[in-house]
Amino acid sequence: MPLPVRRSSVGVRVGKVTVGGGAPIVVQSMTNTDTADVESTFRQVKELARAGSEIVRVTVNTDEAAAAVPHIRDRLLAAGVDVPLVGDFHFNGHKLLNAHPACAEALAKYRINPGNVGRGSKRDPQFAEMIEMACRHGKPVRIGVNWGSLDQDLLTRMMDENSRSAHPKDTLEVLRDATVVSALDSAARAEELGLPHDAIVISTKVSGVQDLIAIYRSLAARCDYPLHLGLTEAGMGSKGIVASTAALAVLLQEGIGDTIRISLTPEPGGDRTREVIVAQEILQTMGLRAFTPMVIACPGCGRTTSTYFQELAQRIQSYIRERMPEWKKRHDGVEDMTVAVMGCVVNGPGESKHASIGISLPGTGERPVAPVYEDGEKTVTLKGERIAEEFQQLVERYVERRYPSKEAS
Ligand code: SF4
Repeated sequence: MPLPVRRSSVGVRVGKVTVGGGAPIVVQSMTNTDTADVESTFRQVKELARAGSEIVRVTVNTDEAAAAVPHIRDRLLAAGVDVPLVGDFHFNGHKLLNAHPACAEALAKYRINPGNVGRGSKRDPQFAEMIEMACRHGKPVRIGVNWGSLDQDLLTRMMDENSRSAHPKDTLEVLRDATVVSALDSAARAEELGLPHDAIVISTKVSGVQDLIAIYRSLAARCDYPLHLGLTEAGMGSKGIVASTAALAVLLQEGIGDTIRISLTPEPGGDRTREVIVAQEILQTMGLRAFTPMVIACPGCGRTTSTYFQELAQRIQSYIRERMPEWKKRHDGVEDMTVAVMGCVVNGPGESKHASIGISLPGTGERPVAPVYEDGEKTVTLKGERIAEEFQQLVERYVERRYPSKEAS
């Protein structure tokens, strides 16, 4: 399985995780609980981490939230969850970090939005205060520009300069430039203030797919900082997933992006871990990382009127997710396994042969038998009422045989 392709050559340590520097692309997420509520934030961070989030960001917006952070961290460590926490600061971050040194210490990184650090003459000193805190505590920083909160002084200045230019650019282009300039100027300022070059990650999130691609291409051409990718306000459900995937896939394919977050708006009562699964699926389907065995299922068509193969695919998918925590501990490389569940003889045997293990179910009018292939060879033919259970057992045995137990080796 091909793993990391070229990204930023600069590696930034965020707790136990490295972002950039040739490390695999990191999946991160963000809580939506009130950080001051230690119990619910602890529970959500734990769920996100268990789902595979390698860094989790929490809002730090009040004294109560800042005071809660070290307790959340301690609860997580006591539960065996050593996921780096990132503090998301806006407007009052300088005050909170100064007033709550235990919070400053418990966080593995600070996210600073240059557009929300302070207005007018307050902006530079407040930004400097946050960078000084990062230096004092030896923490990296994400300079996180967001189109919705772009530094208005900078934008006005750039718009004015553009209007005086002999060949003015269109407004959209100036807006995109201003986003990049805001991030790079802030990063340069942070370095002048003493923050090491390898303690800076940059993001410039916008909500339009084409804008995001254009801005990150420009950013990647102009700096070597690790880049955090994400389409902000991507939206709900399939729209959010499609928009994020469309934007991120283009950039990741070009070697741009060292860490990603999928900003999905959860449906009421929806599961926050969805954004983690989607991020993993993007990276895995692009062949950039492997997290869990992939199930390849045909879409079904008129050659199979039965829904049996869809149910089997779903059952196998759930089985793999359930078994993965255990498999991962004992079987190195199991995440690379592919399992095919196909609906009829047209593509079934072919696709099954390409998978690690695959089953081709009978289509309408075909003999009621289901050949199973392992590493390209037909090993057994299943029939009868218990095909699903028997195939599950074969998958389990395949894992034992193909990825020998660590204890045994
Ligand atoms: S494998 Fe068979 S059932 Fe599945 S989509 Fe192809 S032709 Fe249809």
